Amino acid sequence: MPFTSQISANLDMVLDAIAAAAEKAGRNLTEVKLVAVSKTYPAGAVAEALSAGQLSFGENRVQELEDKVPALPERIEWHLIGHLQGNKVRKALMLASWIHSVDTQKLLLKIDRVAGELGVKPKILLEVNVSGEESKFGQAIGDDAMRLARLAAKCGNIDFQGLMTMAPFGADERGLRGVFARLRGLRDRIAVDTGLALPELSMGMSADFVEAIAEGATMVRIGSAIFGNRVQN
Ligand SMILES: *Cc1c(COP(=O)(O)O)cnc(C)c1O
Repeated sequence: MPFTSQISANLDMVLDAIAAAAEKAGRNLTEVKLVAVSKTYPAGAVAEALSAGQLSFGENRVQELEDKVPALPERIEWHLIGHLQGNKVRKALMLASWIHSVDTQKLLLKIDRVAGELGVKPKILLEVNVSGEESKFGQAIGDDAMRLARLAAKCGNIDFQGLMTMAPFGADERGLRGVFARLRGLRDRIAVDTGLALPELSMGMSADFVEAIAEGATMVRIGSAIFGNRVQN
């Protein structure tokens, strides 16, 4: 009997569920990328998912990227999805090609400057706090987010790709779809305002990716449904 790891079985299930959600939404499956969130799991877990064909992985801490990136093949595409402190920007840009969590002007300008120094062009998403919960990072939806987006559009060393959000924990389907639809609406307004395409909407996690795909997610960040429940984080 061929050996199938739990991780690769979970990955197959998640990919099937993503395909079903895309089909139901009348969307092309190629528009939705899975970012497998490996935070708190060891490099060996990432290697298992990689050998099952998964290439994009997300971490929420620079420290974990520092541990895992050198231990794993270079063909992996790394996404930093968690809050980024200014003093870790240089390391983050050396380790990850995508940053989903740009949430202040100060951080954006620092990323632009350090990217210029390093000669890299990171793909950037602006994090938006759609629900207005105080516990969440991100620019408030509306004028604040628009101002940050206009600034991002002028930064020459970054590749501004779109927006990211986290939905409120425990919201019902209607509430979730409302939050995701508002992020899409904001992206559409910013695209018109800046003249940029801004193709990416990073939204949806293990508990709510179906609703996110229904509202236009192009990147779903899924951890526990692939790797199992975490003890912390
Ligand atoms: C942990 C995390 C995820 C994945 O959460 P799961 O519920 O395990 O799928 C997605 N996005 C961010 C920003 C995270 O920190």
